[in-house]
Amino acid sequence: MPIDATLPYDDGNIFARILRDEIPSKRVYEDEWAIAFHDINPQAPLHLLVIPRGRYVSWDDFTAKASDAEVAGFMRAVGTVAREAGLVEPGYRLLANIGGHGHQEVPHLHVHIFGGRQFREMIPAARG
Ligand code: 5GP
Repeated sequence: MPIDATLPYDDGNIFARILRDEIPSKRVYEDEWAIAFHDINPQAPLHLLVIPRGRYVSWDDFTAKASDAEVAGFMRAVGTVAREAGLVEPGYRLLANIGGHGHQEVPHLHVHIFGGRQFREMIPAARG
């Protein structure tokens, strides 16, 4: 079930628990602003999640309330994780789901990094 991204932050959510190392994850990166780990149910040969250390429900919450330093730190972390995974030359895809229509399932902001295969164009070219 997708979450309501307008609700207050829930410190018991699964990614909060991963951040606190209460449950295991395959962590590939961490710095002052963000951590990254493998998605438990990968949708591509490489499927990583990057999350800010701060308590933000969604992209909306983050971009409305986070400091410039947090936003910059998180954005740079996403780029660094993809670069260190060797995805720049072949290319990759980023995705952030927000709220109900976005089908966001975990109420802590996360950016998906997908790589390792060719993805389809997002909007098929008009025919005829
Ligand atoms: P969303 O639909 O919220 O954008 O994506 C949530 C993602 O979190 C899904 O791709 C799901 O597979 C992943 N996920 C859910 N629970 C866990 C977990 O406990 N560990 C890890 N590593 N990924 C999880």
